[in-house]
Amino acid sequence: MKYIREFRDGGLARKLAAAISREADPDRHYNLMEFCGGHTHAIFRYGVQDLVPANVEYVHGPGCPVCVLPVRRLDDAVELALKEGVILTTYGDMMRVPGTKQKSLIRARAEGADIRMVYSTQDALNVARDNPDRQVVFFAIGFETTTPPTAVAILQAQAEGLTNFTVFCNHVLTPPAIAHIVNAPFEPGEKPVRIDGFLGPSHVSSVIGWAPYEPAAREFKKPVVIAGFEPLDVMQSTLMLIRQINKGRHVVENQYTRVVTREGNRKAQSLVAQVLELRRTFEWRGLGYVPDSALRIRDTYAAFDAEKRFTVSPKDSREVKSCECPAILRGVKKPTECKLFGTVCTPDNPMGACMVSSEGACAAYWTYGRKRGAAIPAKGAAA
Ligand code: SF4
Repeated sequence: MKYIREFRDGGLARKLAAAISREADPDRHYNLMEFCGGHTHAIFRYGVQDLVPANVEYVHGPGCPVCVLPVRRLDDAVELALKEGVILTTYGDMMRVPGTKQKSLIRARAEGADIRMVYSTQDALNVARDNPDRQVVFFAIGFETTTPPTAVAILQAQAEGLTNFTVFCNHVLTPPAIAHIVNAPFEPGEKPVRIDGFLGPSHVSSVIGWAPYEPAAREFKKPVVIAGFEPLDVMQSTLMLIRQINKGRHVVENQYTRVVTREGNRKAQSLVAQVLELRRTFEWRGLGYVPDSALRIRDTYAAFDAEKRFTVSPKDSREVKSCECPAILRGVKKPTECKLFGTVCTPDNPMGACMVSSEGACAAYWTYGRKRGAAIPAKGAAA
């Protein structure tokens, strides 16, 4: 398939691996955070970590939208789903994420809640059209990639005069998260990880462009390379980061030129800006409250905002005990450092979002055989 096969070419991978080995300074350790779960899965699926020298280490970042949703918002979604007359619609991965006391949406469905898995916002709108006597809530999660379809769904609902469609908006933004993670607070006893550079989001950047990462790269002196999701994309981006680090440069470069431009998709940006606005602060699992890092529905569209149409009670929400997802999302622990990994917690019986999500780091370790890699060394953890 064009744009797939040529980015998985073994001969080119070996050449890139040789170039990385040649250019990586043996006297230093490179901690490269791949922001996206898609990058994490590419690294493990194709064994990229094994192709690069031991002093080039990939640190898994918070770029899995299911994983970063805090338990409290999931608990709120469960409460919404259990309200009389409500149909809650959401993407498949969200259904199995455990909330407080391990209560997931799928468990709420077993208790009688009407929760339906959808593949798109258009599916959710169809549920609303087909059920005019019910209130249909779309549980919207995701980074900037999935935000435009949410905005379009709200505009469509308004144009059609749908009065039974609302959105529980949990869309989050990547540039503030990258800026925050460099200075993320650490829990007592955690060893801080020095991040030397970022493999920047690819699909997200196709929407917002790569310019929004420039302030963080400049301020924190960390290079960012927007990287595609195929193995050669990741390896070429690694080489680009190593070259910047070696020269003491810290700018945004774009490896994913076949998709991403500096400006991004202006039409999508303007649709989002019409319907959604910045939240002053928003909680991320692992990162805590991050300023200006999420979106909410503008007052003009309040009729479609589930947070305004329904009330949810305050909660004492809690992570599953011993789940290390928050530390993994900060890059300070690997999945194999969680004592539940592969024992209590597996994809069939997930204890945390990082094992449920198709983009989660724990799922990547399990799926591609790293479950045997308890010995994967936690290299270069020193600041
Ligand atoms: S292995 Fe399971 S319990 Fe441990 S951090 Fe990952 S998701 Fe959480």
